[in-house]
Amino acid sequence: MHLIDSHCHLDFSEFESDLSSVINRARMQGVESFVIPGVSSKHWDKQLKLAQAFDDVYCGIGIHPWFLDNDPLSDLVKLESLLHSQSVVAVGECGLDATVDNMALQQQVFIAQIELANRFNKPLIVHHRKTHHLIQQCFKQVRPEYGGVIHAFSGNINDAEKYIDLGFKLGIGGGITYERASKTRTSVLNVGLSNILLETDSPDMPLFGQQGKRNEPQNIVKVAEAVAELFSCSVEEVGQVTSLNTKALFDI
Ligand SMILES: [Zn+2]
Repeated sequence: MHLIDSHCHLDFSEFESDLSSVINRARMQGVESFVIPGVSSKHWDKQLKLAQAFDDVYCGIGIHPWFLDNDPLSDLVKLESLLHSQSVVAVGECGLDATVDNMALQQQVFIAQIELANRFNKPLIVHHRKTHHLIQQCFKQVRPEYGGVIHAFSGNINDAEKYIDLGFKLGIGGGITYERASKTRTSVLNVGLSNILLETDSPDMPLFGQQGKRNEPQNIVKVAEAVAELFSCSVEEVGQVTSLNTKALFDI
């Protein structure tokens, strides 16, 4: 079985005490690579250390819209200096979140990150929350030249197709196992396996039935099973196609 967890926060304190076992458990299930997205400049050094310590761990470096309180302009300068590092495969996670009340600043920092991704030939890892229309506006201002992934995609077919036209993949995780995600399941089915990546968003976003528990990368198997059921195909096929998609996007 080939699987990649394209979005797991292994640098978070929830994994401090048992990270090696978490990684080993996932490897036993066939997980061959892990991508740790960046959220805040405070985490970047730790992410890079983990990528150095484990051959199958890669990272994205970025400023998440929830973490714009650390002087984002000086963070952007530091971000730029880290994009030369071998283990950095993407810029992000970055994006726009309508539940945080500083949209003008969010847009400024997001656009700066799209520009950096273009300059360093990197894809983007994009966070969205009630912001598909605003993200599309930013993409019109600066077109992302190397595509990326829309993390935890939820939305209709129209939203999905606009991203795919720009070279993006949809990040699919435990969210699709919830009853309320029927619109997203329809979109995923429409865009096809070749346009999705699997992710857990560990330690967050537990699968249905696992609420309140720490999520971890070995659960990517359950995400793959849910996707296989949706497409009426085998888990192996889901793993194979989505792993190839992930490797091609992040050049790993
Ligand atoms: Zn995340």
